[in-house]
Amino acid sequence: MTRNLQNKQLESLQTAMRARQIQLREEIRQALIKSDSEHYLQIADSVRELEDESFADLIVDVGLAEIDRDLDELRAIDAALLRVADGSYGVCEACDRPIDVKRLNLTPQALRCIDCQTIFERTHFQKTGRTL
Ligand SMILES: [Zn+2]
Repeated sequence: MTRNLQNKQLESLQTAMRARQIQLREEIRQALIKSDSEHYLQIADSVRELEDESFADLIVDVGLAEIDRDLDELRAIDAALLRVADGSYGVCEACDRPIDVKRLNLTPQALRCIDCQTIFERTHFQKTGRTL
């Protein structure tokens, strides 16, 4: 295994992510309510009862800029928790090396090590810049 995480570290990261998940869901729910649209109010109502996986899917079509960032983070956390479950958490998606624990403490849902993330963002932002 390439994993560099102790069980205790993994547990506390998992706890942090779950807490953040709840917080983000609530923020999104509040934003839906504030939008004052009947459709969004219905979604906000059903949010409470939803399973983790269906939550982000349901909000896909909302298109409220205000909650887009929260939603992105929530999806990243959902995905990270799945990686914890299947044992691939904490390993860089791009280079297969362990992600630094300090980085995970700051960004538990990180998909890439800091080097690969830097490369990714450079590429990503260049692409975005061209289309703008
Ligand atoms: Zn990497």
